[in-house]
Amino acid sequence: MKRWIVLLCIFSSPFFFHPCLSWTQTSGPVLNPLTIVKAGTLIDGVSSTARRDQVITIRRNVISQIANASSAKIPADATVIDLSKYTVLPGLIDAHTHIFLQGEDPAEGGYDVQLLKYPLAFRAARATVSARRALEQGFTTIRDMETEGAGYGDVGIKMAIERGYIPGPRMFAATRAISTTGGYPLEGYAPEIEVPKGAQLIDGPIEARKAAREQLDHGADWIKVYMTHRSWVGKNGELVSQPTLTVEELRAIVDEAHGWGKKVACHSYGGIGMQRALDGGCDSIEHGLMLSDAQVAQMIKQGTWLCPTLNIYYMDWAPADTPEGQRDRKRVSEHEASFRRALAAGVKIAFGTDVGGFSWTDPIAAEFTRMVELGMTPMQAIQAATSRAAELLERTGQLGVIAPGAFMPMLSRSMAIRWRASKFWRMLAS
Ligand SMILES: [Zn+2]
Repeated sequence: MKRWIVLLCIFSSPFFFHPCLSWTQTSGPVLNPLTIVKAGTLIDGVSSTARRDQVITIRRNVISQIANASSAKIPADATVIDLSKYTVLPGLIDAHTHIFLQGEDPAEGGYDVQLLKYPLAFRAARATVSARRALEQGFTTIRDMETEGAGYGDVGIKMAIERGYIPGPRMFAATRAISTTGGYPLEGYAPEIEVPKGAQLIDGPIEARKAAREQLDHGADWIKVYMTHRSWVGKNGELVSQPTLTVEELRAIVDEAHGWGKKVACHSYGGIGMQRALDGGCDSIEHGLMLSDAQVAQMIKQGTWLCPTLNIYYMDWAPADTPEGQRDRKRVSEHEASFRRALAAGVKIAFGTDVGGFSWTDPIAAEFTRMVELGMTPMQAIQAATSRAAELLERTGQLGVIAPGAFMPMLSRSMAIRWRASKFWRMLAS
């Protein structure tokens, strides 16, 4: 039976939508400078156990104190939010989203119609809905992992959120992403017809570096690189994935991004492309379906993150008697083993879902259940979506944690949201 769980999410976004707040375009919401939250149960994002009956004091945008309810003094002029019957969590972080995708149904034209038929304004309008959906599901920070042909639209959506025009989470934008010729859709059209591509395609280290410079110049917070593309079941029943960039091409991008103080996220399934991703110095491996023991060891040595996006690979399998269906099933079995291997070895793991690859109306939180089924403790899974993901984003102590010094700019009762994640919640309670 499904249970509705009510959570307070500590918003680390510079804006959230609440009709009771007065605010201006330039200064954001005007808040009571002193807010008190009474938490029945507090999961702070870092501690291994929850605490009962805590009082959180917030001065303007920052948490200043956390105390036991029995000893806490509550000033008369404070705005008090009583959640003493509820569990309070930090705002969750999804480190792999696509607000410009909508889980395209193949029957409705799938991915290609996005690029071929939809005006950019239509896609941007839908992206604003995606951003709101992230908030409604308790995700107050997202690392959006490229716009799929919508150019620098993510930078624009981020700007609209930050300036208070639309509700949405704090965003880290990757802009266009980079792959190679033959390394990204649209595909399958007559060679004589030039079609748009869902990523910026480069060949050679010079073009690679130029693409990174362009993207960073136009506001990329992260660079996203596709190190593998097509995948299929090979002659011996093994999963194979086509490599894309060479190590030299990737190194040019990583070198450029690091020079700007930015990091590089690499889509990579396994095999040759995964080895190049690690040798080229990627900061995070996205998906990581086929990590070998040696590659896991290399990730630990280099401090590479894994953002596994497990749950999406269980969706929309082709029939079992087709090559695609066999590949879909093989991807899941490899992924499960790879995730367990990385977890057991202590690879740094951040929560990410690839939402947009599936519909924004589906529950984002289903990923938690999958992480726990594959060996994480429930608290480890929460930390992957709070303090660990904040560490990936280099915002330790500011995001993904309820502790003095953490961001807490906006707060109200409207932030007590209903979060339907019953299976995971039962695991947490048990
Ligand atoms: Zn993705």
